[in-house]
Amino acid sequence: MTAVKGHLLPSVILVGMPGSGKTHVGRLLAGRLGWTFVDTDALVEQRTGRSIQEIFSAQGEEAFRTAERAAVREAVRVRPAVIATGGGVLAERRNREALRNSGMLVYLRADPPILLDRISRDGVARPLLAGDPEGRLRALLAARAPLYEQADVIMDATRPPDELANALWEDLLGRCCARVPVDHSPRGYPVYIGAGVLDLVGGIVAGQGIRRATVLTHPRLWRRLGERVAQRLRGAGVEPVRVTVPPGERSKALALAARVVDRMAEAGMDRGDAVVALGGGVIGDLGGFVAGVYMRGVPLFHLPTTLLAQVDSAIGGKAAVNHPRAKNLIGVFHLPRAVLADVEVLRTLPLRELRSGLAEVIKYGMSVDAGILTFVEARLEALLAGDREALEECVRRCAAAKARVVSQDLYEAGERQILNYGHTVGHALERRWPEATHGEAVAVGMMVEAWVALRLGLVREEVMWRQEAILRRAGLPVHLPPAAPPGDELLQTMRLDKKVRRGEIRLTLLKDVGMGLVDQAVPEALLLEGLQACRASW
Ligand code: NAD
Ligand code: MG
Repeated sequence: MTAVKGHLLPSVILVGMPGSGKTHVGRLLAGRLGWTFVDTDALVEQRTGRSIQEIFSAQGEEAFRTAERAAVREAVRVRPAVIATGGGVLAERRNREALRNSGMLVYLRADPPILLDRISRDGVARPLLAGDPEGRLRALLAARAPLYEQADVIMDATRPPDELANALWEDLLGRCCARVPVDHSPRGYPVYIGAGVLDLVGGIVAGQGIRRATVLTHPRLWRRLGERVAQRLRGAGVEPVRVTVPPGERSKALALAARVVDRMAEAGMDRGDAVVALGGGVIGDLGGFVAGVYMRGVPLFHLPTTLLAQVDSAIGGKAAVNHPRAKNLIGVFHLPRAVLADVEVLRTLPLRELRSGLAEVIKYGMSVDAGILTFVEARLEALLAGDREALEECVRRCAAAKARVVSQDLYEAGERQILNYGHTVGHALERRWPEATHGEAVAVGMMVEAWVALRLGLVREEVMWRQEAILRRAGLPVHLPPAAPPGDELLQTMRLDKKVRRGEIRLTLLKDVGMGLVDQAVPEALLLEGLQACRASW
């Protein structure tokens, strides 16, 4: 399949005999997906200003085939689309190639008696069947069947059209993305991962019975991706309402949440209307928070656009805004209905943000799943170069790891704290070192926490060196910057961390690669030493 920039999903191309229901099923499927519907016969009539019947009787079949070739060329330029074709379209090699290159071919198969019955009732003139409909239909089918049978999908066209459209939707979903289930109680949800899955947003949101959605994003991301998301939503019968906030951590604030709520209230959003969070962790947290509190909770869909958000923040239902005294101090647990992680959108992500996401990936590798660390070590260059397959596998592995952890402990009573490896120190650093990205702060946090584990005799030195090596290769910092505030100030910030209990700082510490230990009490003096040991000037 050819890759059209930013639109990697295949178009769906319906082929088959007259009467097989291509136009009807195609329209239904396009409405289900929120995609454009193109009927090549209708396009021929539009472009020539004549009915097909007229073209045949005035100019003959050759003229029709010429017009049809032009229609096919035009149809395949619309991406992604649902295309219904004329019955004889595949007889032309150029048509076959053009259609094959733009999508998946679906043959709607039915036997002559059924086709004849439908044709006799639909009132459409079919010049190729004139005279002896049955005889001609049988002859045409015999000639065309071998071409039809080469389709990617063959469907029994005697099934009701809405059932066929649904089956095709499921088929497309299965082909276009990996699906990682997150089995939370009270309700699980899927994470769809793949290049182009953003184009499935209309079908996924509308499929949940939703008719209106607040699309929350940044102004730039709106221009880059939001318009497309809105178009897919609209096409599937979901009215989008655009709300944008400035980029940056500062947007994770109660004042901004209130502004978003104002906009939703002004638009008359009610309990059945959704929030679609299109952006990185900042949008995900703000959108998740607002969706969790607006009318005590409305449906939420995450469309994460940074690596960090795809591997981490969009999964697990945590959402929070910051307080001047501490990060993520005001928050909720609010589960999304679905997460759509489109790795194709990572192409425009600045390298620094990609590296920042890799810090969370390495975190999974160090504390949850050693396989992830081995994978990153093997595929780091491909990941940094934006290789699609590598990114897909990376997001899939991390989503599965996070799903495993959070499904056992949604409310972070115990095991989920394993995901906080590097974060207690990281969060304190983030607050006191605002130039750092989240991932950069976490990278240094992991180094400090690994050092502490080493000093406590929990972990072998090689593990710490292995961590340092991969962080360095990923272009992440492994030292506190010289300008970072003194250790005791960082310690004070840490005491405000949500994981602190009765004033005692407790960390997730490593035992081995892929094996974190949660809830380890750490003497403050040791932590201070660790902070000192990891300073650049040291
Ligand atoms: P971010 O959301 O600020 O995004 C980083 C920058 O990239 C922004 O400027 C954004 O506009 C831009 N951007 C986003 N997508 C882009 C794209 N496709 N192309 C080009 N530019 C794009 O930062 P982040 O690293 O994604 O998220 C960090 C936040 O996530 C922190 O606030 C952190 O606390 C939070 N977080 C939450 C959880 C959770 O479980 N809720 C977990 C981890 C992190
Ligand atoms: Mg038709």
